[in-house]
Amino acid sequence: MRPATIPKVLLNPLNLSDLTDCRRCPRLVSWREEVAETKRAAYRDDEYWGRPVPGFGSLDAELTVVGLAPAAHGANRTGRMFTGDRSGDFLFASLYRTGFANQASSTHIDDGLVLKNAYVTSPVKCAPPDNKPTADEKANCRSWLMAEWELLQRAQVIVCLGGIAFLETWRLLAETGLDMPRPRPRFGHGAEVDLSKVGGPWIIGCYHPSQQNTFTGRLTPDMIDDVFKRATELIA
Ligand code: SF4
Repeated sequence: MRPATIPKVLLNPLNLSDLTDCRRCPRLVSWREEVAETKRAAYRDDEYWGRPVPGFGSLDAELTVVGLAPAAHGANRTGRMFTGDRSGDFLFASLYRTGFANQASSTHIDDGLVLKNAYVTSPVKCAPPDNKPTADEKANCRSWLMAEWELLQRAQVIVCLGGIAFLETWRLLAETGLDMPRPRPRFGHGAEVDLSKVGGPWIIGCYHPSQQNTFTGRLTPDMIDDVFKRATELIA
């Protein structure tokens, strides 16, 4: 299946052509393109996206969901964050159950999925080997996340999927000049940080919906649903 066109929602404000042409991280550029060339057998007829993957959803959203990075054969293939892999299946099913998405599945960029009052993104826009970006790569990519964050003016709650998402979100908000509490709270599933008193959002931690967590029962559908239900309460 052919991936997609660039999500229209971000075309103008983010200067998306700059993002999707970004080559700041040589290791990730090499990996994303190699994966797109060699492909997984199950997707041999697909044309992989093989480029940086922008966030998607409504820029008026009150909920922002931050993951880690595109999966090699998921978003790096489909061109839309969390789309086309098991992690995304788990995440979007929960967003659907809790009212933040119009459907529970996420197979490809033109599958009709629409997020409702939500925006999904990641601190690293290119697929990293073993899902492990380096510190330099995370720092290189922070300006793209910042560009998105500056557009998300109505965001009230950020759900961070995993410890890296939490740490990178923390660094991002600190760079905006918010008076962040010290010491930094520890990441945990369901852990909350209220930054509304200093003009920021609420942050809620959630285990990443990787198969490592969902297949082992470390993260269950009820657990992730509870996080998004709590986000709904905070937004209300
Ligand atoms: S990870 Fe980010 S900074 Fe690095 S090449 Fe991809 S888009 Fe550019």
